[in-house]
Amino acid sequence: MKSLLHFSSIILITLLFANCSNAQEKKMENKYYSKTDTSKLSISNEEWKKSLDAETYNIARAKGTEYAFSGKFWNHQEEGMYRCKACGNALFRSDGKFESSCGWPSFFEPINPKSVKYAEDNTHGMQRVEVMCGRCDAHLGHIFDDGPAPTYKRFCINSVILDFEKK
Ligand code: FE
Repeated sequence: MKSLLHFSSIILITLLFANCSNAQEKKMENKYYSKTDTSKLSISNEEWKKSLDAETYNIARAKGTEYAFSGKFWNHQEEGMYRCKACGNALFRSDGKFESSCGWPSFFEPINPKSVKYAEDNTHGMQRVEVMCGRCDAHLGHIFDDGPAPTYKRFCINSVILDFEKK
């Protein structure tokens, strides 16, 4: 009897864990992510909340900023492409990335001019230009005029909203 009880509690615990991981996977399923569909997305924040993990949502939709030197791409030098983590849109190439001491991944140009869009940002007592994903409007970061040639621009982007695809 004792061993049967022991056996059933193991089964119960296994089922509980299996359920938890399923729920986790379901929550993280992002139906808006595509590497081929380039059609514009207009999705409510409420809907994005169901598709993005909390960290990505905080940057993409709540316009948060990751801590300097905290992201996984500020010092990343592999060759490849950076996509929007929210929608899969191709944003930057490693060719367009440069070493900057700012602590965030920095690019001097996007893959093409329409990969990104811009908006005035006067929050936090600063006048800045916000950079957003051209497909889904996710907040990516900001653009500054202190980049290297040939564009002299610095796209200062949060690692959290980038998805790297190795060449
Ligand atoms: Fe996007």
